Amino acid sequence: MMDFLDELRAFARESADVLRRTTLDIDRDPSLVDGVLGGALPWRHVGMPAEYYPDPPVVQGRPVYLDSCVEQVTVLEELARADAGAVLALPGPAMSGFVVAEIADQRQRERYYGMLAERPTWTFFGMTEPSHGSDPAGMATNVTGGLLNGVKRFVGNGARARIGVVFARRSAGPLGIAAVLVETDRPGFAGVPLETLGLRALALSELRMRDVPVEVGDLLGHHRSATRQGMWAAVRTFNRYRPVVACLALGVAQAAFDYVVDNRRLMRVAQRHVLDGFAERLHGARALVLAAARSADDDPGDGTLASAAKIRATALAEEITTAAVRFFGPGARWEHPLLDKWLRDARAFEFMEGTSNIQRLNLAQGYLNGRLGHAQAA
Ligand SMILES: Cc1cc2nc3c(=O)[nH]c(=O)nc-3n(C[C@H](O)[C@H](O)[C@H](O)COP(=O)(O)OP(=O)(O)OC[C@H]3O[C@@H](n4cnc5c(N)ncnc54)[C@H](O)[C@@H]3O)c2cc1C
Repeated sequence: MMDFLDELRAFARESADVLRRTTLDIDRDPSLVDGVLGGALPWRHVGMPAEYYPDPPVVQGRPVYLDSCVEQVTVLEELARADAGAVLALPGPAMSGFVVAEIADQRQRERYYGMLAERPTWTFFGMTEPSHGSDPAGMATNVTGGLLNGVKRFVGNGARARIGVVFARRSAGPLGIAAVLVETDRPGFAGVPLETLGLRALALSELRMRDVPVEVGDLLGHHRSATRQGMWAAVRTFNRYRPVVACLALGVAQAAFDYVVDNRRLMRVAQRHVLDGFAERLHGARALVLAAARSADDDPGDGTLASAAKIRATALAEEITTAAVRFFGPGARWEHPLLDKWLRDARAFEFMEGTSNIQRLNLAQGYLNGRLGHAQAA
């Protein structure tokens, strides 16, 4: 019998065809996502808990909720080979779901997952700010006296979301950052789409919050100890989501590689060598992404391998999409619009979830803390 992950991958590959049909249209007009992606894929609720997802796809007789990092990197890489932007634009829990799963109380879970189960619903994860980036030390968004104020920028799906998590300062220091669960129809809340070049389907947005009313029941993890609330959940979310970003970068890299193999039949020997080298590195990066996903499932507190996978996959995506264009001569970006799209998309992964320099710092820290033993075992 075929290995479960192999069969899951094959099933995902087949289901990705639907994304290929719309990829260039959505790239031109990201607002089309709202109509196209709602029910187009069997993966309607990536990461929804079983009790809110009555009809998940079934592989080898097993329901697939995509609630583990290993399942996510397997399926989402295949979908990203068709359109990574559309994968990121799928309705469902995405990043904010990790925070909710980690620290929400029962009422908050019901509020969040209940809304998502009603109909295709987009969510957001609001951390980055215009003046301070994603560095929590400088975070200016604040929640005081029952009011949320601040601006978040580069937030995926922000303008089309109905609910999400805003990180905001309640008091000084790292323990003073709260994760606030907010519906976007509250007074004082506005989501505005930004113009971008890559991953346009994701509709990066700016969130503007002016005196948005919040209550204690909106603070995720308010029932837990101060050390197990906002930033704790954010770090674990990054550790879990970085292998996912890496798998998306890998999907784009593989798509560009396949395009060259399928469309450029006459090649010089040197060009074949280049492709052989890429094939090996794609294989190696895939193994690393899977190892990172396993590590994240085992211990979301350890992001060492997640950072390694993100560095490797991001660099490969940039390199292969750049090289792919060169295989087709000077007019390639006009004559091969998919190559042009992948070249633009690949640049976005460097910034998502922290740049490669930040990942290198994580990797060094993991090494100094003796965590690469775990990495080697994986
Ligand atoms: C496609 C996309 C989707 C995104 N989605 C979201 C989202 O949903 N929610 C959200 O909140 N944010 C999101 N972001 C924002 C993203 O998370 C941040 O832009 C990213 O984490 C980089 O952080 P920064 O902007 O603070 O840059 P910085 O970390 O400040 O980096 C700026 C530059 O300085 C370098 N640098 C920084 N610190 C060091 C150091 N210690 N040593 C050496 N070099 C350093 C970096 O390598 C980089 O070149 C998204 C971004 C993109 C591109």
